[in-house]
Amino acid sequence: MAKVHNYSAGPCILPEEVLKQASEAVINFNNLNLSLLEISHRSKDFIEVMSNAQELVKELLNVPDGYSILFLQGGASLGFYISAINGMKSDGTGAYIDTGTWSSKAIKEAKKLGNVNVIASSKDKNFSYIPTNFEIPSDANYIHYTSNNTIFGTQFKTFPKSAIPVICDMSSDIFSKEINVSDYDLIYAGAQKNMGPAGTTLYIVKNDFLGKTGRDIPSMLDLQIHIDKESMFNTPPVYPIYVSMLNLQWLKKNGGVKWIEGVNNQKSELLYAEIDRNPLFKGIVATEDRSNMNATFVLKDESQTEAFDAAWKAANISGIKGHRSAGGYRASMYNALPLESVQALVDVMQNFEKTNG
Ligand code: PMP
Repeated sequence: MAKVHNYSAGPCILPEEVLKQASEAVINFNNLNLSLLEISHRSKDFIEVMSNAQELVKELLNVPDGYSILFLQGGASLGFYISAINGMKSDGTGAYIDTGTWSSKAIKEAKKLGNVNVIASSKDKNFSYIPTNFEIPSDANYIHYTSNNTIFGTQFKTFPKSAIPVICDMSSDIFSKEINVSDYDLIYAGAQKNMGPAGTTLYIVKNDFLGKTGRDIPSMLDLQIHIDKESMFNTPPVYPIYVSMLNLQWLKKNGGVKWIEGVNNQKSELLYAEIDRNPLFKGIVATEDRSNMNATFVLKDESQTEAFDAAWKAANISGIKGHRSAGGYRASMYNALPLESVQALVDVMQNFEKTNG
């Protein structure tokens, strides 16, 4: 059976060799004649996995000294609350930029803890652009934004220098392009796009950022406790961490984040060029804010939906239906999606124009 072109928005495609190695470890890990799933997280073999994974994050993202790497649970959805409770003083304020579903959810969680100042939003145009006209308030405890809007397909290409701490939800574009970690005080990201399988959430924390809220933080939400316990305060999600480690090894071996950024640019340029050229389709977000990870588009004539859906399905393409709140199509082009898969979609669009244009 031919390989499916997997455009899933997350959990999503992982490199085949990573899946193969991951499956082997379920049966016999490190030649121990034991499964990775049946050994202690305190064993030498797993501690090595944890420290390798942490080192790979540091190396691939050039994380400077003074930051800690954690692999926690609860998804980025718990990250909304964890980031706020570790950053917002008990009588303080968190500033937020609302660029769609995920930042709206982060705002909702932060409001449970205190004052939230939404300094910019693109809600007026159904989150189809990235707001630029805002000033970061100097009296907030932090500014929070979502670097890539997975659902509507917009992405921050730059972010202004900030005098206050910056918290970023990078769930859907971490490891896809080079970043300057020292611009951030806290980065969090669910693993299940570019890092690995669902089940762990990466936190990159500037140590100095913590300990200033005056709050009594529940232990499992307290980033300082997780740092003190080297990400092993409780039983960590061993398998997602292991597969993330394998996937980061794959990224390193192939040339790292700089390499994948080039590949990702090629993929998104190829697809957006076709969306713009083909008279049957159009993009739905501001051109300058288009995401390199999630390309959203619609058919100009909705009555062609059934025929187009049949065409891409026949070409072994999966997962390009848009999110229910955005409609149309969303092609998620995460790190492991090869250029050939994007070419396959472009071919379908071109053939569709020939037969239906
Ligand atoms: N933030 C962003 C940008 C996301 O794309 C997602 C999930 N797609 C989340 C947060 C929520 O992540 P989780 O399901 O891991 O809680």
